[in-house]
Amino acid sequence: MKALHEYTEELYHCIRCGFCTKVCPVYNTVNREMAVSRGRIRLMREHLDGNLELTPKMMEYLDSCLGCRTCVTNCPPQVPTDEIVRAARTKYAQNQGQPLMRHVMLHNVMNKPERFSKAFGSLKLARTTGLNRLLPKTLKARENLLPNLPERTFKEELKELAIKKSTKKVGFFLGCMDNNLYPQIIRAAINVLERLGYEPVIPTNVVCCGAAHHTYGDMNIGRKLALKNIKVFSNIDADVILTDCATCGSTLQSYGKLFQNQREEAEASNFARKVMDINEFLKGKLIPGDLPVQETVTYHDPCHLVRYQNVKESPRMVLAAAGAKLEEMSEADRCCGGGGTYNIFHYDISMKILDRKIANVKKTGATILATSCPACRIQLAHGIKRHGLSIEVLHPIELLAKSYGNGGEGQAEELH
Ligand code: SF4
Ligand code: SF4
Repeated sequence: MKALHEYTEELYHCIRCGFCTKVCPVYNTVNREMAVSRGRIRLMREHLDGNLELTPKMMEYLDSCLGCRTCVTNCPPQVPTDEIVRAARTKYAQNQGQPLMRHVMLHNVMNKPERFSKAFGSLKLARTTGLNRLLPKTLKARENLLPNLPERTFKEELKELAIKKSTKKVGFFLGCMDNNLYPQIIRAAINVLERLGYEPVIPTNVVCCGAAHHTYGDMNIGRKLALKNIKVFSNIDADVILTDCATCGSTLQSYGKLFQNQREEAEASNFARKVMDINEFLKGKLIPGDLPVQETVTYHDPCHLVRYQNVKESPRMVLAAAGAKLEEMSEADRCCGGGGTYNIFHYDISMKILDRKIANVKKTGATILATSCPACRIQLAHGIKRHGLSIEVLHPIELLAKSYGNGGEGQAEELH
């Protein structure tokens, strides 16, 4: 990945046309020049010209970027603002470190899968005992973002799962969010893959893909995590590594770039080329379900799928195979405001962006809202609760599994 000073040329490509101001969800919410691509580019030019330091105040502006890439796809000279923001965060993190809460999260929890699961276990206990109700208001608001936690993680379930053998093996990356929060999505993926004659090989010694570390510029930990995952899959004989998480998928696909000009680059690029979103893998292989879902479904395009991986049609094809009646919402590919952990650190902006998304969902009259990223799912399910609606949020693969006679045993969302 390039360092900030290597973007000097791209920074001067901005023609100040303002197209980004029409589409940036953050700018449309806070209406401040420093919260849009054009303003951020200006700040970075001033910094590289030696006129501005990377101060905490400047980082506040850069941190408020969701990294949704909407500006990039609408920018005539295609200035890669998301990459420039990330490079600035990396430079700042190298010199100043991370704020305390984020440091703990990135360095002590998310990089250690067992600790991450224990953190969710503690939350479950706090909810059971009612201790979570004692949290201060701002923390309680963040805790409310998380759905009901499952009885067991997917790793625990896997010990008792017998996956059907096949000569057609596919690797499957077990993401932290699906493992800890949504094991039912992975069960559905297994059911669908088995039905189509594939055997998913799911190593449980993988670690976090590093998405949050990349987002906040903690690249050293990001590289360590990447090397572990590459090593795990080097022992698995499969041409493809599937993921049911848009964020994991785009992060794993960026491993080649992460090691650019380093000795691990070839191996990391080889790994990255194998990574594929499960919806995309199913293209051309889909068999319509015997038990069509027959409900009105609307689909939210995760930024990390539609803009980072150019995957737009295949999730809709999965929904069609499941027998769902697709009702497109307006702005289906507009960011939901979740942004991984953006909703934790920028709660108020995030909720305003979410409210617009939910208003669009509501207009469709759908009873199911489908999406292909657990981070979006957390945010969208929270939006559904926040607006008192009764709409189920599911992954397209769960609907397909249901139409194949499996799945549908996820837990209902509740207010805590
Ligand atoms: S759309 Fe691109 S070129 Fe136009 S103002 Fe925004 S960043 Fe600059
Ligand atoms: S990446 Fe998204 S949030 Fe960031 S400046 Fe571009 S449009 Fe705005």
